[in-house]
Amino acid sequence: MEFARTVKYEAELNKSFYKEVVESSGCDKVLECIQCGTCSSTCPVSLYMDYTPRKLMAMIKAGFEEDALKSKTVWICSSCYSCTVMCPSQIKITDVMYALKRMAIEKGYYPKSMPTPVLAKEMNNIISKRGRNSEMYVASMMVLKTNPFGMFKMAPVGLALFKKRRLHIGMEKIKNTKQIKKLLSGLKKREAK
Ligand code: SF4
Ligand code: SF4
Repeated sequence: MEFARTVKYEAELNKSFYKEVVESSGCDKVLECIQCGTCSSTCPVSLYMDYTPRKLMAMIKAGFEEDALKSKTVWICSSCYSCTVMCPSQIKITDVMYALKRMAIEKGYYPKSMPTPVLAKEMNNIISKRGRNSEMYVASMMVLKTNPFGMFKMAPVGLALFKKRRLHIGMEKIKNTKQIKKLLSGLKKREAK
C-alpha cells in the first residue's frame, strides 16, 4: 500500500496566487478575510463542498493554488450571492468562485469527473468555434466524458424532449466565425492586462 504525502512544503506554495485571483475576479479585498466563517454558515451548499468558502479563502491567501483549483467547491457553488451579501469584509466571494472556475479550466485543473466543469468547457469550445451553442452536442459530450454508461439512462429523456421539439439536434454556425474569435481573444487580452 502506497501513502501519498498530503502536507505541502512552503516552497510548493504559490505566494502570488492571491494576486491572480484579485486580477481575475476584480475583488481587491481577498487579503482582508478575517476567517469569521459567515460565508460558510450562510452558504446553502457548503455541506457538500470539499472546502468551505472560508477555508477556500484561507487557501487563496496562503498560496494553495493547485488544491484550490482542483477543488470541487467552486463547481458546487450555486452563485446565490448569499456569502457576498453577508461578508463583513465586503469580499466578493461569488466573483472569486467564478474566477477560480475560469482559472481551473485554463490550467486544466478542473475535476474531470464532475459534469459542471466539463459542461462549461464544452460550451466554451463550441461557442468559440461556431458562435452558437448546441444543446445536443454539449449534453452528449458531458455524459460521454463523465459517465459514458449514463448515455443509456439519458437516451429516453433525450428522445422524449426531441419528440416534443424541446431538443434541437442540429449544429448551427454563424456566418462570420472570425468575429467571435476576435471578440473572445480581445476579452482574453483585456483579462491578461
Ligand atoms: S465571510 Fe468574508 S471575512 Fe468571513 S470568512 Fe468569509 S470571506 Fe472571510
Ligand atoms: S455564492 Fe456560492 S459559495 Fe456563496 S453562498 Fe452561494 S453557493 Fe455558497
